[in-house]
Order: sequence, then structure tokens, then C-alpha cells
Amino acid sequence: MDDVVIVGSGASGGTLAAHLARRGVSVTVLEGGPKIDTRTAFNTHSMPFDFENRSIPTMHPGVAGFDSERSRGVGGKSLLWNAVAWRLSQRDFKGRRHDGAGEDWPIDYADLAPYYDRVEWEVGVCGNLDGLDDLPDGIFLPPVAFKCSDALISRGAQKLGVKVIQVRKATRTIAGNGRPPCHYCGNCMAGCDVAAKYNSFDAHMKPALSTGKLRILHDSVAREVLVSPENRVTGVSYLNRETKAEGAVNARVVVVSCACVQSVALLMMSKSRLYPQGLANSSGQLGRNFIPHFTGGVQAFLTDLIGRQPVNDEGFLDHAYVPSFMHNRKREYARSFGMQFNYQNRRSVGWARAIAGFGAGYKSAVKARYPAFVVMSPYGEMLPNAQSYIDLDEKVVDRYGLPAARRHLAWGENDRRIFADMSHWAVEILKASGAEILSVAAEPQPNHELGGARMGNDPKSSVVDRNCRTHDVENLYVVDGSVFPSASEKNPTLTMMALAARAADHIADSLQ
Ligand SMILES: Cc1cc2nc3c(=O)[nH]c(=O)nc-3n(C[C@H](O)[C@H](O)[C@H](O)COP(=O)(O)OP(=O)(O)OC[C@H]3O[C@@H](n4cnc5c(N)ncnc54)[C@H](O)[C@@H]3O)c2cc1C
Ligand code: SF4
Repeated sequence: MDDVVIVGSGASGGTLAAHLARRGVSVTVLEGGPKIDTRTAFNTHSMPFDFENRSIPTMHPGVAGFDSERSRGVGGKSLLWNAVAWRLSQRDFKGRRHDGAGEDWPIDYADLAPYYDRVEWEVGVCGNLDGLDDLPDGIFLPPVAFKCSDALISRGAQKLGVKVIQVRKATRTIAGNGRPPCHYCGNCMAGCDVAAKYNSFDAHMKPALSTGKLRILHDSVAREVLVSPENRVTGVSYLNRETKAEGAVNARVVVVSCACVQSVALLMMSKSRLYPQGLANSSGQLGRNFIPHFTGGVQAFLTDLIGRQPVNDEGFLDHAYVPSFMHNRKREYARSFGMQFNYQNRRSVGWARAIAGFGAGYKSAVKARYPAFVVMSPYGEMLPNAQSYIDLDEKVVDRYGLPAARRHLAWGENDRRIFADMSHWAVEILKASGAEILSVAAEPQPNHELGGARMGNDPKSSVVDRNCRTHDVENLYVVDGSVFPSASEKNPTLTMMALAARAADHIADSLQ
């Protein structure tokens, strides 16, 4: 019998597995998707004209992976993420104390800071030491320089009293920890084929395999966490992705790490005499407090760059960021927003459809605007509300015969106010930078799924405690974005990894 079985091999499960194995704990990771060779599986450097319909698929033809939310592949979404990596600040952990809305975390920044340090070192986060109150600095590799468009927007934002900083990414800018530096191909969300960008297999699980303590069972879709009449979990039952053959792994501790919605779904599928509403759901809180980030989007052309010669200006997808600046300004809502910008990349020219004309004139209009295109993507913090939750749709089953997870989402008044203000500021910053606005998103779009198995001290209003252990079952943990009591406006994955490293210490100590 293993000490621990973890369901899910993404940023959360992969970090947890490596930290446990290094502590001498025997771990099996159950992953619904196949093993993926990051060197050869992706179309990292393909171009649209390599494919008949001009659309670049994620995987090379004939290579399995990313079939569904339950079978992405070993590494999960960390294989395709954009790697923007922020620490949450003390204000993020205690938002309710500041503006009376939402929920506080039961932990403080100081509880997570040593784990942010460790994870940043392992992962390799590039960035600048900016000294900002609401965006704590960390252990950084050298940052990537601003590009022309970043410098123009930085100057424009400055006119409005808004600061622009260099982006922080889990991407190596110098070689280390067995990984090479980035070669600036700019295709990070197509899967980095040299693992300069963090993915949980190459950076965490692969090195941990050498401990002899880690086993990865890929192509194994978990369908139930098993619980004994004595109220202890005993293991996980699963189905083979291809053959549907059934299997089970027994362990002293079970960790659910399937990425927010699927973690909630797996617990809801694990009904028993003790837990008829789903495992660890005696409070009825499982699935509640679903708080994904919401994004807006403004597309524009920087007029100073229209008609310029495109250059091979070493970079990835984005190099700059507008940290939250509203916390200290008068505003009509709780919480705040931050802005990522520039996803300029030779492969994505969908905006060309919005340019008028045809023939040679059209082509030269598109070419002239190519170096000038920018997208401003603000991210806002959603507050929990009773209409936003996750449940199972028992009428819809997936290819494994398992009920589909269902998202219910209703934007609240506060969310709509943030959305309006962040769209307004994105347009103002772009205008101050001399931009021609092409389009402004009319509605918020959900992003970065968070909440559903909230962390808290009170078992009546939360699902897990401050160590990610469920209130109901002593040897059952949930470790991923579902435990976030509040979302902040910052990309969440670095925090998930730090939480996983912290939970690993707690689990290893309790097993001893
Ligand atoms: C295109 C893109 C860009 C992104 N950019 C950023 C960014 O810049 N910064 C940031 O912070 N975040 C970003 N994210 C989000 C980030 O990828 C996620 O927050 C992170 O990967 C979540 O980690 P996880 O381990 O919780 O889940 P995942 O990485 O999704 O891993 C969960 C794994 O569990 C497996 N699984 C699910 N259900 C089952 C089951 N029943 N049985 C077995 N296995 C199961 C899945 O196959 C999957 O491999 C981005 C995401 C995408 C898609
Ligand atoms: S830009 Fe760098 S991190 Fe991104 S895919 Fe290319 S080599 Fe990897």
C-alpha cells in the first residue's frame, strides 16, 4: 500500500508529489491523460499554413492528449499555460478585513512565504524586484526586457499615474535545475518543447522519479474516492482511459488535485452511506463559492509602430504587467484588477478579419499593422455569490460513463463594476499610449477557475482546513485552486504550487 495517492498531475498534484517523494513518502499519481513527451508531442513551432484549415492543433497528428478535462495528460494544464507567476499579498489573504467583502483566508502571507521561496527556486521564475506593497517580491531569475510596445504603453500609463512592471514568469531566462534557458520562440501556450517554461512533469515529477518513491499511473481516470465505514478514505478506483478496464489504488492518504471543477466533481461522484451528498460534503458547501477570475479585453494598434519593419525582438508572449493600482484609489467596488498585455505572436493574426478591404490594399494594411497590434487583458476578482456554484449533471455522461461537471455562473453587481472600470482603464491607458482602439470586450469572460472546496476554520462554511485537509475525513485532502477562499486579481498557479508544497510538509509530518 502506498502512503499517498494523488489524483491529478498538474501544477498542484505534480508539485505535491515531488515534495512528498523528496520527504521519503511513497506516492502514486493517478492521471487520466496519457504520458506526454514535451520534446516531440506539441506543434510548438508549426505555422497555420502547415495545416489544411489554417488552425494549429495542440498535439502532433496521432499523439494523444488533452482529450477532456479528466484526461489532459501528465503535466495537466501546466503543459500549455502562459506561466505568469505572482505571489498573493497579505491584503489578498485578508481582503474581507480591508473592504468587508468576500472571505478571508485562514492563513497569512507569512505562512506561505517560505513555500513561495522554495517553489520559485525550483520552478525558475524570472522577474524584477519591484518593491510593491500588493505584489511581494521573490527569488527571481533575470527579467526579460520591455519590447517597443511595452515601453510605449509604460510611458502612456505613466501619464495617468499608473505603473507598468516587467512580467514575472515561471520561465528560465538562464539555464539551471537541468533545464535550458528560453529561446524566445514566443509559442509558450502551444507547449514549450525544451521545458524552459515550467511544466509539472519536467520540472517536478521527472526529477522526483529518481527517489524511487514516486509512481505515475497515467491513462487512469479516477471515478471514486473510497471511504470505509470508519470514516477513513482507503484509496481511489479508476478506469483505464482506452480499455475502460477497472482498477484501484489503496493508500493511507488520498489527495484530490484535479483542478477545481473536476476535484469538486470527483468528490461529488464519491457518494456513500456516510456521505450521500458527496464525500467531505456534510456541510453542503462542496461546489459553493465558485469564484473564477473574469477577464476583459481591448484590442488596439499602437500608431507609433504602424508601418514599422517587424524585428526578431527576443521575447515570449508578454513581457510587462500593470499591477493592481485601484486598492489605494477611490472606487465604487470592493477589490481590484490587474492587466496583462501584448500577446503579439506571428501565429495569431485573427484580428486581421476586422480590417476592411481586400486584395493588395488589404494585405498591406494588415502587414502595416502587424508590428503595432496589442491586446490589453485585465483580470478582475470575483466575489462569491449563491448563484455561482459547481455541481454534477447526472443526465450528461462523458466517454467514461461518468456524470459531467456543471458550472453555474452569475456575475454580481461588484463584478460588473470592476469589469466596467477595468475596461475603462485599459482603453484610457492605450489611448494615452497613442493607440487606435480596434475592439473592447462587452462582457466578462471567466478564466482561472477557483473555489468550490473553500479553505476555512469553520467546518460549517468551508470544506478544507488551513492545511488543505477536509474537515470531514482526517486522511483526505484537496490541493488545488478549489480551496481558494478569495481569488485576488493575480494569476493563481504559483499560489497553488506553494499551497501544495506546504500541504506536502503537513502530510509528511502527520504520516511520521
Ligand atoms: C492556455 C492557458 C494559459 C494559462 N496561463 C496561466 C498563467 O499565465 N498563470 C497562471 O497562474 N495560470 C495560468 N493558467 C492556469 C493554470 O494552467 C492552472 O491554474 C494550473 O495548471 C492548475 O493546476 P492544477 O494542478 O490544479 O490543474 P491541472 O493543471 O488542470 O491538472 C489537473 C490534472 O488532473 C487530471 N484529472 C482531472 N480529473 C481527473 C480524474 N477524474 N482522474 C484522473 N485525472 C484527472 C487532468 O487530466 C489534469 O491533468 C493557464 C491555463 C491555460 C489553459
Ligand atoms: S518562448 Fe521560451 S518558454 Fe515560451 S515556448 Fe519558446 S522557448 Fe519555451
